[in-house]
Amino acid sequence: MAFQLPDLPYAFDALEPHVDARTMEIHHGKHHAAYTNNLNAAIAGTALEGQSIEQILANISQHSPAIRNNGGGFYNHNLFWEVMSPDGGGEPSPQMNIAKAIARDFGSFEEFKKQFSAAATTRFGSGWAWLCTDADDKLFITSTPNQDNPLMDIADKKGTPILGLDVWEHAYYLNYQNRRPDYISAFFNVINWQEVTKRYNAANEGAMK
Ligand code: MN
Repeated sequence: MAFQLPDLPYAFDALEPHVDARTMEIHHGKHHAAYTNNLNAAIAGTALEGQSIEQILANISQHSPAIRNNGGGFYNHNLFWEVMSPDGGGEPSPQMNIAKAIARDFGSFEEFKKQFSAAATTRFGSGWAWLCTDADDKLFITSTPNQDNPLMDIADKKGTPILGLDVWEHAYYLNYQNRRPDYISAFFNVINWQEVTKRYNAANEGAMK
């Protein structure tokens, strides 16, 4: 059973002016589609065809670079579209578990924003910034190169990603050119905190410790 490119959960222009329609169209229809097609080609005829993407990523050190790059690209963009929304932005509502966890583990939303933005800004070259939850239900920020992610067994810091920001130039160059910090700042206007808290709750079975 082949992996499928998901539909975007909103129109190409829905995130404007923060993310422009042309970038969304190419990013989803060309880049994400290519990762999906190349992943399917790389696993065709192997035992991996029956595995979930999470299973494949958890054992990625045993697989080829094509599976690492395209499997990561497939998973990362699936998450990325979902954690943005035209109705997003601002801070999560105080009653959301993710708001409580951010306050608990970073001290304040502003401190979280500062650390996440720094991770995204300082990732040299192409990669991703992540907010993750670990096995002890503690939040942490990390970044990964290329299409790696914290689900991979080769990751420096492993955990469950609940928010991710693509800092490849293909994600922002048409609108922001070299101004990656402006793109990162704009991302905070479209974060879908409902989705992030849903992913946080799922990873931790909804339990606040
Ligand atoms: Mn991308």
